[in-house]
Amino acid sequence: MTTVTSPPSDLGSLIAQTLAPRVHAIDLEGEYPESFLRAVGQLGGFAGVVAPAFGGSGKGLADTIATMAQIGETCLSTAFTHWCQTACARYIQLSDNASAKSRWLPRLAKGTQLGGTGLSNTCKSNCEIERFLLTARRVQGGYEINGTLPWVSNLGEAHIFVTGCPVDGDGRLVFFVTRCNQDGFRLVESAHFTALEGTRTLACQFRQVFIPDGEVLAHPDAAAAYLARIQPGMFLSQLGMGIGLIRDCVRLVERAGRTHAHVNAFERDQADELAAALAAAEQEVFRLAARLDGDPSPEELPELLTEVLRIRLAGGELALRAANAAMLHQGARGYLRTATAQRRLREAYFIAIVTPSLKHLRREIARREGPA
Ligand SMILES: Cc1cc2nc3c(=O)[nH]c(=O)nc-3n(C[C@H](O)[C@H](O)[C@H](O)COP(=O)(O)OP(=O)(O)OC[C@H]3O[C@@H](n4cnc5c(N)ncnc54)[C@H](O)[C@@H]3O)c2cc1C
Repeated sequence: MTTVTSPPSDLGSLIAQTLAPRVHAIDLEGEYPESFLRAVGQLGGFAGVVAPAFGGSGKGLADTIATMAQIGETCLSTAFTHWCQTACARYIQLSDNASAKSRWLPRLAKGTQLGGTGLSNTCKSNCEIERFLLTARRVQGGYEINGTLPWVSNLGEAHIFVTGCPVDGDGRLVFFVTRCNQDGFRLVESAHFTALEGTRTLACQFRQVFIPDGEVLAHPDAAAAYLARIQPGMFLSQLGMGIGLIRDCVRLVERAGRTHAHVNAFERDQADELAAALAAAEQEVFRLAARLDGDPSPEELPELLTEVLRIRLAGGELALRAANAAMLHQGARGYLRTATAQRRLREAYFIAIVTPSLKHLRREIARREGPA
C-alpha cells in the first residue's frame, strides 16, 4: 500500500524536508528543483508581487524578499529561481497589459506556470555596457524577434520569460512575454557553471519569432517609463538571495568558533561584525521595499533607483565578505567537496556578477555622483 503524505504546510518545513536534502544534487549535478518551486507556489511564496485581483496576496516586495532570503539560507541556486519567477510576475503586474495579466499572473502566483527574466542584456545595453543581442521588427499585429540571449534561468519547454530589445527603425525598446514552446524559438544548453547549476540556465534563440501585441508589456512609446518602474524592485529583490546567504555564513563562522575560537579570533572578520553589517543592510533593504510597495510616483523613481544601487552594491560586497569569512573560519572542513562553506563562496560570486554586477553598480553610482 502506498502511503500518501501531504506536503508541508509552511515554508520552513518545506525547505527542511524537500530542499535541504537535495542541495548537493542541485549544486553538483545541476538538479532543477521544479517540484520544490511548485510547492512554494502552492504556499503563496510567489504571490506577494501579484495583486489580489489576479490571484496574488499583494503583500509586496518585502514579503517576496523575506521568502527568497529564507530559501537562500539553504540554497542560493533555488533562491535565484525564486527571484526569476517573482521578477517575471512583477514585470507583468507592472505593465498596462490587462490580457497578459489575466492570462499569466494567477498561474505565476500559484507556481502552476514557471517563468524567468531575460533582462540582463537589455539593462546592460541600455546603459551602453554591451550591445543589444535581440532585435524587434514591427509587423502586422505584433513584432518579429531575432537574435540569441546567452543566459536565461528558470526555463523549460512549458515556461515563459520576459525580455526587451530595440525596435528596428525606432531605436526605443519593446518589452514582451515569450513562450518557450513557440514557433521559431529554441532553448539551447550552452554552458555549465561553477555554481547555480540547478537554475536551468539556457541560451534563448529567436528565429523570426512572432510576438503578438497581446504579449507586449510595453510598446516603444511607453518603454522608458516602464523600465524605470520595474528596475528598482528588480535589483533590490536580488538581495533576498544575499540576505539568506549572509545569514548562513554568519552561522558557519559561529559554528567554527565552538571548537576553534582560540585561533579563529585572529581572523579579520568576526561573526558579530558581520551580523551587525547584515542587520543594517536588512533594515535598508526592507525600508526601500516598503517605499516601492507604496507605489512611488515617476518623479520619485530616479532617486529611489540610486538608493537601490547603493544598497545592492553594499549587499553584494557584504555577501563576498561573509562567504570569504565563512570559508576561512571553517578551514579544511569547509574545503571538502560537499562542504557548505565552499559552496557559499562559489554562490556569493554569483551575487557579485549577475546583472547588475558589482562593476556595473559602481559604474552607475559613479555616473550619478559624477560632475553634472
Ligand atoms: C548562472 C547564470 C545565470 C544567469 N541567469 C540570467 C537570467 O536569468 N537572465 C538574464 O538576463 N541573465 C542571466 N545571466 C547573465 C548575467 O546576469 C550577466 O549578464 C552575465 O553573467 C555577464 O555579466 P558580466 O558582468 O560578466 O559581463 P561582462 O563582463 O560584460 O562580459 C561577460 C563575458 O562573458 C563572455 N561570454 C558570453 N557568453 C559566454 C559563454 N557562453 N561562455 C563563455 N564566455 C561567455 C562575453 O563574451 C564577455 O566577455 C546569468 C549568468 C549566469 C552566470
